Amino acid sequence: MLNKNNKILVVGSVAYDSVETHAGKRVDALGGSASYFALSASYFARPTIVAVIGDDFEQSHIELMESRNIDLSGLQIEHGDTFRWAGKYDPNNLNYRETIDTQLNVFAEFKPILDEKHKSTDVFFLANIQPDLQMDVLNQAGEKPKIVAMDSMNLWIENNKEDLLQLIHKVDIVFLDETELRQLTGIKDLIEASKSIIGMGPRVVIIKKGEHGLLMNSIDTDNSFSLFACPALPVDPVIDPTGAGDSFAGGFMGYLTSVGKGITEISVQDLRKAAVYGTIMGSFTVQGFSIEQLKLVSIEQIEKRYNEFINLTTVS
Ligand code: AMP
Repeated sequence: MLNKNNKILVVGSVAYDSVETHAGKRVDALGGSASYFALSASYFARPTIVAVIGDDFEQSHIELMESRNIDLSGLQIEHGDTFRWAGKYDPNNLNYRETIDTQLNVFAEFKPILDEKHKSTDVFFLANIQPDLQMDVLNQAGEKPKIVAMDSMNLWIENNKEDLLQLIHKVDIVFLDETELRQLTGIKDLIEASKSIIGMGPRVVIIKKGEHGLLMNSIDTDNSFSLFACPALPVDPVIDPTGAGDSFAGGFMGYLTSVGKGITEISVQDLRKAAVYGTIMGSFTVQGFSIEQLKLVSIEQIEKRYNEFINLTTVS
């Protein structure tokens, strides 16, 4: 039985993004890893966002998040501008994008602060931010939450690899894309690379492959590995892939949160269902710029796509 009242805490970025794709462009649209994650997870559980915004942040975006039952008690408002990111996609291949601009603004001085209620949240998601901030949040929790998951990016693998490796030793689930996983481990074969991450302590590694879906490797209580391959759900047309990875993680972790188990009780089946729900949430995000489609989704649409996915991948 799913429980939408179970809580999940996410630390990450809340941003204004300027994005250009073959389908057009948006300037200063709501984005950021924590925004996509929390909106996506809100269809399965009650997310709390720990992040920072500037005093330019629009009230309508606060209201949107509150309308999705997202707890904003960990959202700090500082004097200055909200984090800005700008990216441009290759019109012929949406797997390639160029970061045109990153302005940290209030994010530069961000110090996550967790109150007692935040610290006792069962599930933590450390979205893509500086590894020492991710570690700081985990340390503030004190006792380890039931499940801790993390994401990262090439920037931190290049510049903060030691911090990142220390963090990986303390988490249960790692989300990385295939290039990042190879870069981090130095191992070309993705299965071997995922096993080397599992050797550091995590139980689950999710290897994101963009429009080609994902590979998930996990270790069971009897020490056997279980591999799962999950395609992306094809949608036509794709408008803007920004945030697909964070929306995937939001659906995946939101579903696991609703199941309510600790990391050692989670079954392979729970993980596979989570991967399918994550895939579905990513498929909604890419159908619009920013969170334009993600915010409109209904539970009925999610279940409809779940069934479409099963149809797409079942032989008989
Ligand atoms: P994704 O498409 O999953 O890589 O996520 C894109 C989101 O990440 C955008 O909404 C950006 O605002 C956010 N982002 C980009 N660069 C950074 C960064 N260095 N730290 C935190 N968030 C970022």
